Amino acid sequence: MKFDVAIIGGGILGITISYWLSALTNHKVCVIEKEDRVAAHASSRNTGVVHSPFYLDPQKKKKIAKAALQSHDLWQTFAKKHNIQWKDTGTIEIALDESQHHTLEKYLKWGTQNGLAESDLQLLDHTQITQREPNVKCHSGIYCKKDASTSYGMLTEQLSLESKQNGTQFLFSHMVQKIKNNTIFFANKKSIEFDFLINCAGGYSLDIAKQLGLAREYSNLHFRGEYWKIAPQYADLVGTNIYTVAKFASFPFLDPHWIRRADGTVEIGPNAVPVSDPEAYSGIGGVSKTASKLGQIISGSSKKLLFNSEFLSLVSKEWKSSISKNAMVRHVKEFIPKIKPQYFTSRGTAGIRTPIITKNGTFLPETLELQSSNSLHIINYNSPGATGAPAYSAYLVQQLSDSGIIKLDKAQKPHAWNFSKLDSA
Ligand SMILES: Cc1cc2nc3c(=O)[nH]c(=O)nc-3n(C[C@H](O)[C@H](O)[C@H](O)COP(=O)(O)OP(=O)(O)OC[C@H]3O[C@@H](n4cnc5c(N)ncnc54)[C@H](O)[C@@H]3O)c2cc1C
Repeated sequence: MKFDVAIIGGGILGITISYWLSALTNHKVCVIEKEDRVAAHASSRNTGVVHSPFYLDPQKKKKIAKAALQSHDLWQTFAKKHNIQWKDTGTIEIALDESQHHTLEKYLKWGTQNGLAESDLQLLDHTQITQREPNVKCHSGIYCKKDASTSYGMLTEQLSLESKQNGTQFLFSHMVQKIKNNTIFFANKKSIEFDFLINCAGGYSLDIAKQLGLAREYSNLHFRGEYWKIAPQYADLVGTNIYTVAKFASFPFLDPHWIRRADGTVEIGPNAVPVSDPEAYSGIGGVSKTASKLGQIISGSSKKLLFNSEFLSLVSKEWKSSISKNAMVRHVKEFIPKIKPQYFTSRGTAGIRTPIITKNGTFLPETLELQSSNSLHIINYNSPGATGAPAYSAYLVQQLSDSGIIKLDKAQKPHAWNFSKLDSA
């Protein structure tokens, strides 16, 4: 088999790219996925929030902020059309003290710089927040009524069906093992040829780029985000999503929040527990994988993080919240004092983020796109990546067209969103 474009990864990013390519071009496209379905990993193992980009630094996270802004309405239209769970829950991002309040003031500026309307964000003092949410205790907060909750797994699945109708071929249960020149070899002993490869392999995308001699100066770490579900009788304690200003601002994680999911359930989380591989959903991964990850930490750029006391403090705090439900509840109790550990009866579905570490030992803030003559690799595609996927993938497709790698066709096939209105560059 030979394809014009082969996409590795049936997550939300690979599927949205395949969707645009199938609708706008006549190229022969395939999506390669090692699982037997789409969205088996981060794309359905997440918080499910459709984020408004007020908390994203407009200098350091420009691309993903713009993509999130543009994608909100695209997802909303698509979810409504296909009757996919969507709830306009709204978010309150709270400050617990005066210094965090200054961060909220900065977020208000970032929000408008990232294109949000001033009316999308309201700065509330603690009395106004108590009127809205009597069980929340804080110094102040930003209320963003635009934030919504959805199921990114369902959105990805529906989009994959439409991509398939437009001609995309899906190679499920095909695990990429080796890529040589323009041939991909799979673990099931099959192989395919391609003209151009797009690597959207999520937590494994850096490994694939390295296999092709790219991204040598980067390494990565994997952090599991765990959740706890609240028993239904306590779910109405708070009606809005509650996020807090992150205590460790230089690391790409938010502290555990109160989440109202689109299916009506309520959870707290996620934490950020370091684990050995992108799919270690319980425990800390197998012994050999852990040893190999430790080897990378000792030899790679992440080694520098081991000398960063703030990072070590974060890691120890997150490990405690993994081992003990009480530790995670204690954190959320700081702003919802009425909750008790016994209200949380089962764990939610954990997901794993894979941030990229630069050679200086810092977390790379923005998504990394690396290109060779026959491949494009998207690495560090982290939150709010699910929110931004439709517009970000349109931007990538436009870039590929501008550089002559793909050819947009005038006779486009049916598609839900207006490509020409998306200018996420
Ligand atoms: C805990 C958590 C909470 C989050 N919360 C939010 C949120 O509320 N809102 C938001 O917008 N974003 C959120 N995100 C971020 C968002 O989920 C991700 O940015 C997005 O899902 C990434 O999609 P992806 O397609 O790049 O990766 P993935 O969904 O991981 O897809 C990659 C795919 O590649 C496949 N693959 C990997 N290696 C191979 C191989 N060798 N051969 C074949 N296939 C392979 C995998 O099986 C996988 O299906 C969250 C993420 C996490 C982990």
